Amino acid sequence: MSTQPIKLNKKHIDTIDINDALSKTIDGKSQKVISLIQKNIEELHSVAFANSLGAEDMVLVDLIRKNKLHVEIFSIDTGRLPSETYNLIQEVEDKYQFKIKIYFPNQEKVESYINVHGINAFYNSLDLRKSCCGIRKVEPLNRALKDKKAWITGMRQEQSQTRLTLKEEEFDETHQSQKLNPLSSWSELEIWAYIKMNDVPYNALHDQFYPSIGCAPCTRAISEGEDVRAGRWWWEDPQNKECGLHVK
Ligand code: SF4
Repeated sequence: MSTQPIKLNKKHIDTIDINDALSKTIDGKSQKVISLIQKNIEELHSVAFANSLGAEDMVLVDLIRKNKLHVEIFSIDTGRLPSETYNLIQEVEDKYQFKIKIYFPNQEKVESYINVHGINAFYNSLDLRKSCCGIRKVEPLNRALKDKKAWITGMRQEQSQTRLTLKEEEFDETHQSQKLNPLSSWSELEIWAYIKMNDVPYNALHDQFYPSIGCAPCTRAISEGEDVRAGRWWWEDPQNKECGLHVK
């Protein structure tokens, strides 16, 4: 399976040819996503979507809202997000007429980390980077999922070498809940074709060669031919490129 990115910018998205075959594939895959989420709502009732505001997450927001699926949509504001991401939150709320539930990190833990290690200490070592992600992402996620029986992510197999075996549905031991990755088999082309077909809002940084967007200081644009997650924690080895949200 290729992990090579397509040429991500507005010009490329505009040139995607939505032919009948692609359109049918996307319709079929969209129905599967809806069925998977619906089945879990019926069986488990309490289902949440951890919306990390990437292109995939926008596809899921569109499917969930248009199909009136009873899913809590939440995001984590780490305090270090790019301004384009905040603009996207507002745009999504305006378009789909709902409020994304926002979880923040624990203020005392953030203050303590910064006062001991420094404002940008995550560049200094893998331990300090993981510890920052632990405080700003993992702890709020744990709180968000505390009473949830299932949670949805926008992860895909193609996104990185750490996700090649990603399943659509698995049991998440850490949160003792069902974990749904309904887009696991979608290609990047299919994601962007869906966005184009349905006029779905997306982060303006995608048009500037940011295929994967996290916190501002830990995300950079990529060059053609680089892995789609090469711009995340670019100073680290590829096998370390997870923030702890998706622990096996
Ligand atoms: Fe901290 Fe960077 Fe992780 Fe954001 S991505 S929580 S700034 S280490």
